[in-house]
Amino acid sequence: MTVAPPSPAEAARAQAIAWIGQAPKRLLIGGQWVDAVSGKTFETLNPATEQLLCRVAEAEQADVDAAVAAARKAFEAPSWSAMSPHSRTRALLRIADKVEAHIPELAAIESLDNGMPLWYATAAATACADIFRYYAGWCSKVLGTTIPSDGSTLIYTLREPLGVCGQIIPWNVPVLMASIKFANALCCGNTVVLKPAELACLTSIRLAELIQETDLPPGVINVLPGFGPTAGAALAQHLGVDKIAFTGSTAVGKQVVRDATSNLKKVTLELGGKAPNVVFADADLDKAIATAVKTFCGNSGQVCSAGTRLFVQESIHDEVAERVASEAATWKAGDPFAADTKLGPLISARQRDRVWSYIGAGQESGAALRLGGKAWNGPGYFVEPTVFDNVKNGMKIAQEEIFGPVLSIIPFKDEDDAVLQGNETTYGLSAAVWTRDVSRAHKVVKALKAGRLWINTFGEADPAMAFGGYKQSGWGREFGAESIEAYTQAKSVMVRL
Ligand code: NAP
Ligand code: MG
Repeated sequence: MTVAPPSPAEAARAQAIAWIGQAPKRLLIGGQWVDAVSGKTFETLNPATEQLLCRVAEAEQADVDAAVAAARKAFEAPSWSAMSPHSRTRALLRIADKVEAHIPELAAIESLDNGMPLWYATAAATACADIFRYYAGWCSKVLGTTIPSDGSTLIYTLREPLGVCGQIIPWNVPVLMASIKFANALCCGNTVVLKPAELACLTSIRLAELIQETDLPPGVINVLPGFGPTAGAALAQHLGVDKIAFTGSTAVGKQVVRDATSNLKKVTLELGGKAPNVVFADADLDKAIATAVKTFCGNSGQVCSAGTRLFVQESIHDEVAERVASEAATWKAGDPFAADTKLGPLISARQRDRVWSYIGAGQESGAALRLGGKAWNGPGYFVEPTVFDNVKNGMKIAQEEIFGPVLSIIPFKDEDDAVLQGNETTYGLSAAVWTRDVSRAHKVVKALKAGRLWINTFGEADPAMAFGGYKQSGWGREFGAESIEAYTQAKSVMVRL
């Protein structure tokens, strides 16, 4: 009897499970994998099955102290601080190659730990290799300037690294978040202490193992799984940390800012969003509708830039609402490794209950429930696509970030009305406009207050394109030239000739 070879998804899952079952998952400090000083560990679960995956060492203050000291030592060491820009480029390219060679494994670990479908995790892991390559190219282009002067002096600037960067990331696309943070900091010559979210920290650990295999000097990256109020706060408050880069909720971002005043460390924040996705009557509706569904259902809506407010011009509102609901109904939830699964579970029971409370609030506020609203039968923290139409922009479901597959469809009259309502939010991370009228497209993107805009698409990304928030969606930018400024500081020099 011949046994069929495992499918690529089964093979990746088996590889991920084998890695998860190996030796305990520990903290990376100064090039060594170590237990927490306290000896504490925490559990990480598979949200699709609610089963335990493994236990992970839990970092607290003492571990943060050790990691910050290791990162400081690595920052000062000539092996890192005196490395030529071209050698740094090669170091980041080696990481990119490593990541690329392990995409199926990283994707499968992410799927198991976070619950996202394998297709989504594979796209995220693939993007990581490109991110390391993008920043590899920057190493030799972190330029200073020469300043015009009267001839008796020479004035120039140097752009120098900030030092030890504390980086705190959420659980929604951890492998991507960790890659962005590492690549950006390292290309500018900084060292890193990364704290992943305890709900999904395994790909950060695996990524760090892979980076270690590329011979980066010890202590250049340190990884501390642990909880926000302990490990995260210790990092944000730490006197030995020069910059904190935080991605997460706006509420915690504000706390990080308060904690960072301890030594006035530099702060960048990538926070929440409630993106307007504006569809005019002249748009290519087939594309607009398919993309509108993808943006609020992708990763079960656990995406900061998700298009969760769909503004539809009045004349096409009913048709679009109907078609969006029927398209969203095709987003089958289930086993993240099954080829026909489009939607995975939410990260936790707490997140599922939170999303349910918003679905209840939508029904109480009088919005029309077009799709969803049925509880999931079986294990896993699933919530199926949920569509409300005839939503008023002032309603709670249209104002607060839900972080689940829940869409508010809101009618609008004309350009001015779309812009007015689109901007009526405390957030300003991303937005999109769909129209065949070129002038209108550019006028509307100029008027919408957000850091990343799309015309006739949504959610596509390129590491060369800056990302970050207007208003309470954040401080500073990741990606693009702006992100180099965020990880360096300028020193000006005068020479009397
Ligand atoms: P969160 O609760 O703010 O947590 C984010 C990170 O901060 C986690 O690692 C968390 O640790 C840590 N943390 C919690 N309390 C802390 C404290 N007092 N001091 C320091 N760190 C602390 O956010 P989340 O629920 O994980 O993620 C969802 C949020 O992230 C959404 O609002 C989403 O919009 C936002 N997000 C933004 C972007 C962006 O680029 N703009 C991207 C993705 C997500 P523990 O969870 O381990 O306790
Ligand atoms: Mg998990």
